[in-house]
Amino acid sequence: MILIKSASALVQHLRQSSATGKTIGFVPTMGALHQGHLSLLEASKKGNNCTVCSIFINPTQFNDPKDFEKYPVTIDKDIELLENLGVDILFLPLATEIYPDGTNNLEQYDLGVLESVLEGRYRPGHFQGVCQVMNRLLDIIKPDNLYMGQKDYQQCLVIGKLLKLTGKATSLHICETLREADGLAMSSRNLRLNPTERKQAVAISIILKRICQSAQPGPLQPISSAAEQALSEQGFKVDYVAIADAGTLEVPEEWDGQTPMVALAAAYLNEVRLIDNMIIPAIK
Ligand code: AMP
Repeated sequence: MILIKSASALVQHLRQSSATGKTIGFVPTMGALHQGHLSLLEASKKGNNCTVCSIFINPTQFNDPKDFEKYPVTIDKDIELLENLGVDILFLPLATEIYPDGTNNLEQYDLGVLESVLEGRYRPGHFQGVCQVMNRLLDIIKPDNLYMGQKDYQQCLVIGKLLKLTGKATSLHICETLREADGLAMSSRNLRLNPTERKQAVAISIILKRICQSAQPGPLQPISSAAEQALSEQGFKVDYVAIADAGTLEVPEEWDGQTPMVALAAAYLNEVRLIDNMIIPAIK
């Protein structure tokens, strides 16, 4: 694996790969790698001749400075995992490589309703930051294929929109969420949970699974409210539980049983904010 820290060196290196007809797969991450990240890298390795992984804790996407400060860093272990997996290139930039002109006056993107619902509502500015870093990374790497996790469902829709807005030719591949044995979605932030919180955390996936299994056409609000209440009773500070249109993330009053939906939740266990989601397919 080649470790590259400079954007210009990476551009130069990848230009040679593209010139020889190699396809480039890209997996952006913020490090503290787990099996979920590795599954994206495996998908990229299967579909491309050259796989690039980036590790960059992007300051512009953190609406909460404490979350940024406490974001886990395990870089030596990450490098070992990437080496063992046979990733071709690790891009490990400093902020000055990503934001050479600083972080003031960065581009703003018209993300429509995606910016004002769910994560957009509870994390103001978050998706602008995600688009700012992703647009820069995509401009540097120009991947044929981009691999992202369904775990961050709304982020996948936002990046789909960014690709359209900026006319990029990259194909987005959304990969399934990897879970711990008890069902908790793998996440770098799980490292911040103490043993008691770790046991409690599984409740989010249990509640989402219950919603998916019991979903029936009809009003949605009572179902999401009951789920919010159940999580609160189990010690979470709930931002939302919502059942939304899987394509737009709009939340209809009633489900017609035919539109694919997604159940999403975001909740804090003390300081740690966890998110998860599960798809509710149309009823046959
Ligand atoms: P992050 O390092 O949290 O920014 O995540 C980098 C990428 O890994 C994003 O596309 C995430 O959606 C994806 N990812 C995070 N957790 C999981 C998981 N449990 N399963 C699959 N992909 C994941």
